[in-house]
Amino acid sequence: MARRRMVYEGKAKILYEGPEPGTLIQFFKDDTTAGNGEKHEMIDGKGVLNNRLSEHFMSGLNAIGVPTHFIKRLNMREQLVRAVEIIPLEVVVRNVAAGSMSKRLGIEEGSPLPRPIVEFYYKNDDLGDPLVTEEHIIAFGWATQQDLDDMVALALRVNDFMSGMMMGVGIKLVDFKIEIGRVYEGDFQRLIVADEISPDSCRLWDLKTGEKLDKDVFRRDLGSVSDAYTEVAKRLGVMPRQNGSTTGPKLVH
Ligand code: 5GP
Repeated sequence: MARRRMVYEGKAKILYEGPEPGTLIQFFKDDTTAGNGEKHEMIDGKGVLNNRLSEHFMSGLNAIGVPTHFIKRLNMREQLVRAVEIIPLEVVVRNVAAGSMSKRLGIEEGSPLPRPIVEFYYKNDDLGDPLVTEEHIIAFGWATQQDLDDMVALALRVNDFMSGMMMGVGIKLVDFKIEIGRVYEGDFQRLIVADEISPDSCRLWDLKTGEKLDKDVFRRDLGSVSDAYTEVAKRLGVMPRQNGSTTGPKLVH
């Protein structure tokens, strides 16, 4: 059997060449990093949970007409996705002050924001992904004004969808990061959500207790990461069972 070609290896995922032109296989690793790779551990089963959770979020987005790269899940750790040209920006949407925004602006973590705030960070590990303005983005040619308008619209639709879904299972979507890529269809380009959406890239707080159910558990040494991610998967009904089926959502009233 021929060995498949690795296209890219990141901190938490590997991309392999897909079976058809324009497709890739995205493999979810157990590697967990924080602080630009300074803290690194293997968390048993994290890749399996993130594969399922990202499938759940992205297929839901596809179903309501928010385009994503997700095509189908292939197995416990892999999914088939569309190849995109990644825009070198991390798009962050915040509903509640936390993390770097709280630090930068001195706003207490947990303060609700008057409206969702969309931020852009330049994807560059050497620089630690700095916050950039629309002026920087356009001046340096990372995206056009039209792209920016489309990215904000996409990010806010993802926020509405994800906030509602999480609220239904008793979880507050505090903030999240997405990556967006270009696909070309004839003479046109379209922007679609790429990479992953998982507790690695979102802040998720239990609505009643405020308990953190996301990667901050790892970043801040707050307990078991796999317990936190498993709790999210269980509530959403996407906890993998031995026979490959899933549980079913547990609504919280
Ligand atoms: P902050 O800017 O407060 O550190 O992060 C805002 C949100 O974006 C959080 O939900 C965080 O998990 C996510 N985020 C920011 N940068 C990254 C990154 O480089 N990788 C991942 N996985 N998530 C990120």
